[in-house]
Amino acid sequence: MTLKYPTLLSPLNLGFTTLKNRVLMGSMHTGLEESFGGHKKLSTFFGKRAKGGVGLIVTGGISPNFAGRVSPFSSQLTYFWQVWKHRQITAAVHHEGGKIVLQILHAGRYAYHPWAVAPSAIKSPISPFRPRALSERGVEKTISDFVHTALLAQAAGYDGVEVMGSEGYLINEFIAARTNKRRDRFGGSYENRIRFAVEIVRRMRKEVGEKFIIIYRLSMLDLVEGGSTWEEIVSLGKKIEAAGATLINTGIGWHEARIPTIATMVPRAAFTAITRQMKKELTIPLITTNRINTPEIAEELLARGDADMVSMARPLLADADFVIKASEERSDEINTCIGCNQACLDHVFKAKRASCLVNPQACHEEELQARPLPASQKGKRVAVVGAGPAGLAFATTAANRGHHVTLFEGSKEIGGQFNLAKRVPGKEEFHETIRYFKRMLELERVEVHLNSYVEIKERATLEKNFDHVVVATGVTPRRPTIKGINHPKVLSYLDVLTGKVKVGTSVAIIGAGGIGFDLATFLTSDEDHALSLNETAFAKYWGIDLTVKARGGVEGIKREILKSLRQVYLLQRSEGKLGEKLGKTTGWVHRAMLKDKQVIMMDAVTYEKIDDQGLHIDRKGKKELLAVEHIVICAGQESKRELFNEDIKIKGPQYHLIGGADVAVELDAKRAIHQGTRLALTL
Ligand code: NAP
Ligand code: SF4
Repeated sequence: MTLKYPTLLSPLNLGFTTLKNRVLMGSMHTGLEESFGGHKKLSTFFGKRAKGGVGLIVTGGISPNFAGRVSPFSSQLTYFWQVWKHRQITAAVHHEGGKIVLQILHAGRYAYHPWAVAPSAIKSPISPFRPRALSERGVEKTISDFVHTALLAQAAGYDGVEVMGSEGYLINEFIAARTNKRRDRFGGSYENRIRFAVEIVRRMRKEVGEKFIIIYRLSMLDLVEGGSTWEEIVSLGKKIEAAGATLINTGIGWHEARIPTIATMVPRAAFTAITRQMKKELTIPLITTNRINTPEIAEELLARGDADMVSMARPLLADADFVIKASEERSDEINTCIGCNQACLDHVFKAKRASCLVNPQACHEEELQARPLPASQKGKRVAVVGAGPAGLAFATTAANRGHHVTLFEGSKEIGGQFNLAKRVPGKEEFHETIRYFKRMLELERVEVHLNSYVEIKERATLEKNFDHVVVATGVTPRRPTIKGINHPKVLSYLDVLTGKVKVGTSVAIIGAGGIGFDLATFLTSDEDHALSLNETAFAKYWGIDLTVKARGGVEGIKREILKSLRQVYLLQRSEGKLGEKLGKTTGWVHRAMLKDKQVIMMDAVTYEKIDDQGLHIDRKGKKELLAVEHIVICAGQESKRELFNEDIKIKGPQYHLIGGADVAVELDAKRAIHQGTRLALTL
């Protein structure tokens, strides 16, 4: 049989060991590392990914010492008594025939605590703590700590380690002149600045022996001023290779860089051109990374020689069976990571356990196990009304467990609010989630009735034919009571996003929540829909030099921002920064892009009236007229649940409310999918 992804699924021979394919599960902090009983949960989490066929797994970053912890309670591996916890993880992965390495990460000046250290005492823009400059003895001790942690990892049964040398953490801080102002043998010339990195790998190799994987994560594009030049990076790569690394992984962008590198608006595989250029320079295998989320794209870039292996972290959160599905030519069954960050990175930044918006079982494998119904239990007849995210998650999970599910959807297609989201530039990945659910409905034999709006009068029929009725009818846009709200200038965001109306060249948006921001993006981006689909357009917009001539990939590069065809005002009543509640890792990108398009953002607005002239507002006592052609309402949602009535809970079949039909306030797809899945697992 010829494989559909021959390069991706071919083994990678590392000399002393062979990886079964070219898929690396990249390092990602889950929040389980430091939680009580977390190592057992991590064993299940990684074990499931190993069973799913991943070639090599990298753990979340573990500090080699106290100062290097990302936050005061982050994990470190410094003492032998800490080894046993890790043995649970390595045993679980090896039991499934997988391989796993421990990532050693010293946070340097990104450490979120007062004990932070760095090459020089220069505060980072993303941490409130000024680091202490390491003494020369301190530097030597830190090198020893890295080596010691590698030895402990070996004792714990890991197949190797990854040395985190990128993303602006300690090692990267030594390398860049931007953060290294030392005058000793670890500062000054480039030769001196890379000494710390090279010595770590050299001494580590000496201690761990030849048959232990050492991956070095090399910052190939810093995306900050004062970063390295390409010649410097190549020279470091060669020295790291000579020092004994087995593989080199790609790092893109420091955390403080104001350029998105992994969010959904970044084109797929946007940075593999960088790894491709490094491939000419080195002989050991190279790993490429960032926004690679399908086997097709991974195969394409490996086949054309961009790298020897592909790193995917979030796609393996979204689907633990990614590799198995690819190898069995079932890639249409892969639950694709949409790059939203909403349940993974945004959780980690809030010190919450990570999960995945499209797969709530991720990192919760023990609590949300998808158990089939016991043989003694007959599947129940379940009606689901509404095929939005909540209804789809429920229907597919319940059917998978053995229930007989019938899904009614009023419109001609499944997907609910996802059908709106996918039209927003930068959110094209939502197509994949709809594709996934469509395939799951077929596979799980859910009986789907489209164009079937369930009326209240049909309740009796539902009650006769089903044991359970799940009401997932979603939300309806809120219509605020503003004088003149029925004026023809006023549009609903539904009309705009579905293309029902032609929108004028000046627009005021009432409401600056997630949908207000999406709408502002939609209205100002007619000209650059390609930004998230084409890496050249993306690079030009953000001022990135993919030809690696500019220092740090950005110095001296002018951004090319296309002008918006519309003047847009984005308004909210409350006082404070707009978009405050958007995701931690993506909110700044949305704000920055709207600023580029000269969207005027206003807080503390009182809406007085709408008339032929436009929208009349009051701002802190000052009256203003926004003379706009259209006013689009994005003022939140209300539950749509006329089907649900408390009294029927007692008489009829069991009714359940999920998603926006249950609670509309601050509803998002993450909560909807989570709630639908959880209900299906308990029925
Ligand atoms: P939302 O986030 O709750 O925002 C509603 C906006 O309308 C707020 O700016 C609110 O601000 C304003 N508003 C509320 N009541 C109003 C009234 N009576 N009159 C005038 N203005 C009013 O709701 P949404 O934008 O519809 O989004 C729905 C959900 O989807 C949210 O949970 C959101 O997080 C999620 N979503 C997320 C994203 C994302 O990128 N992560 C994208 C789209 C949607 P004031 O009260 O200050 O005026
Ligand atoms: Fe991907 Fe979003 Fe899931 Fe994170 S939460 S793994 S970005 S789909």
